[in-house]
Amino acid sequence: ATSPNIARLGDAARQFIARSRGLYIDGAWHQRDERIEVTDPANGANITSVARGRAADVDLAVAAARRAFDEGLWAMMTPSERGKLVWRLGDLVERHADEIAELEAIDNGKPVTDARWGDVAFSHELLRYMAGWSTKLTGETIPLSQPSPFHAYTLRQSVGVCAQIVPWNFSFMMAIWKVAPALATGCTIVLKPAEQTPLTALRLAELVEEAGFPKGVFNVITGYGEEAGAALAGHEDVDKVAFTGSTEVGKKILEAAKGNLKKVSLELGGKSPMIVLADADLDVAIPAIASGIFYNMGQTCTAGSRLYVEDSIADQVHSALAQHAKDLRIGPGLDPDTQIGPLVSAEQRDKVLGYVASGIAEGARLLCGGQRSGGEGYFVQPTILADTTSDMAVVREEIFGPVLVTATFKAGDVASAVKEANDSIYGLAGSVFTRDIDKAHMIAAKMKAGTVGINTHHVIDPALPFGGFGQSGWGREMGWSAIELYTELKSVGVALRA
Ligand code: NAD
Repeated sequence: ATSPNIARLGDAARQFIARSRGLYIDGAWHQRDERIEVTDPANGANITSVARGRAADVDLAVAAARRAFDEGLWAMMTPSERGKLVWRLGDLVERHADEIAELEAIDNGKPVTDARWGDVAFSHELLRYMAGWSTKLTGETIPLSQPSPFHAYTLRQSVGVCAQIVPWNFSFMMAIWKVAPALATGCTIVLKPAEQTPLTALRLAELVEEAGFPKGVFNVITGYGEEAGAALAGHEDVDKVAFTGSTEVGKKILEAAKGNLKKVSLELGGKSPMIVLADADLDVAIPAIASGIFYNMGQTCTAGSRLYVEDSIADQVHSALAQHAKDLRIGPGLDPDTQIGPLVSAEQRDKVLGYVASGIAEGARLLCGGQRSGGEGYFVQPTILADTTSDMAVVREEIFGPVLVTATFKAGDVASAVKEANDSIYGLAGSVFTRDIDKAHMIAAKMKAGTVGINTHHVIDPALPFGGFGQSGWGREMGWSAIELYTELKSVGVALRA
C-alpha cells in the first residue's frame, strides 16, 4: 500500500517523491533496477523506492570524485569562488526548507516542525558558517633553528576524496555536518545516506547541482551499509571516511579503513547523563530534561538518557517529568502539532520496547509510558524508568528511543553523582542543573563528555566543536575543528642562500 501521508505533502515534496530516483554520480542520475523500499514509519506503508547501490557503483562514484579533485574546475577554483558556492547551497536549502522538512518528516517520522526549525534551519546556517572558512585556510610562517638560513611555512590543503556515511536519525542534518566543511575546504564527496532515510540526500544532490558545483564534486550512493557503506569505507582511493552511527559499526569502519590508512572521523553512540541538584530551578530543569531525552523520540546521539537526581527532590522531579511526558502530543510527523512522532522502523520500536521490558524485569519502576501507541505505525510512548542501578542493561546500553532511566544520589554527595554519570563506555554529552555556579563549573569540568550543558541539555551550534570522549567517537565536527578534519597540513622549507 502507498502511504496516505503523501497527500499531506506540499506540491514540491510530492513532485520530488514522484521523480524516479537513481544514484547521483559525476553530475548525472544513474538508474538501477535493484531497489530499496522507502517506508513511512507513521503507518508502515510505502513512500517510494531508491536504487540499491553496490560496490561497483561505489567504484564509479569514487573515480568521479577523484577526477573532480585532481583536475578540472573544482581543483582550479579560487577559495572565494568555492565559498560563494557553499553559501549559495545554504541559500537553496533555506529556500526549499519546507519541502526538505516535509521529506524528512515522512521518511524518518520526526515532527515536521522540529525538522523545519531544527534539522533544516541548522543545516543552512552551518553551510553559511562553513562557507566563511573557505577563504581562511591559512598556514603559518615558522622560525627554524637550523644552522643555515631557512624560510619555512605551512600550507593547509584539502584532504581529498571523502566518503561520508550517515545515519537515519537526522538524515539531512548529519549529511550537511559532513558535506559543508568538506566542500568549504575543496574536498570531493561520496555520500551514503542510511537505507531507512535516503530521500533528503537525493534532494540535496539536486540542490548541489542547482548551486553550480562542478560535476563529480558531490556524489550520492544510496544502498545498504554492508554493501555500499562497507565498499566506501574500505575503498583504496578514498582519502578520508567520516562516519556517524552506532559504535558497533564505527569499529567496522575503522577496520575497513585500515587498508590504505585513510583518515577516519567517527561520531558514535552515547548514554549521556543529566545531574539535577536540589537547588536547581525546576521550571528550567524539567522542560530541559524532558527535551533532553524526548526530542526526536530519543533517537538522538546526545540524548540525556540517564538522570541522576538529588534524593531530597526526587519525588517532585519524577512526578513533574512524568506529567510532562504524558502531555506530549503523539502523532504523525507531518502534523505540525506533533511533538512525538513514530520511531524510524518496526525494528527500532521492538528494540526499545524490549529494553523497557528488560528494565522492569531487572527491578526498575515504570513511572510512565512503556507501551506502543496508536494502532499502526511505530509509535512508543515517552517512558521513564525509576530506581535503576548501574548494572542494568537499560542504564549501560544506548536504547535510542524515548526512554529515560533515573537514579538518586544522597543529599550533598555530588562526587558520587559525577562518578555514576561517568561510569559509561560513552562520553558524548552531559548536563547539570543547579543555581550554584561553583558546583556547575566543577561538575562540567569533571564530566566525561564532549559537550556539557549547564541548566540546559542539548548544546549545539555551527561554531561549537562537537564529538565524543571514550567510545563516542574520534574527532570534532563543527567550528574550526571540522576544517581540521578535512585538511592536511604541509610543511615547506626553503633553503636560503646566505
Ligand atoms: P548504524 O551504525 O547502523 O548506521 C549508520 C550508517 O552506517 C548507515 O548509513 C548504515 O547504512 C551504515 N552502515 C551500516 N553498516 C555498515 C558497514 N558495515 N560499513 C559501512 N557502513 C555501514 O547506525 P543507525 O542505527 O543508523 O544510527 C543510530 C546510531 O547512530 C546510534 O547509535 C546513535 O547514537 C548514532 N549517532 C551518533 C551521532 C553522533 O554524532 N555521535 C549522531 C547520530 C547518531
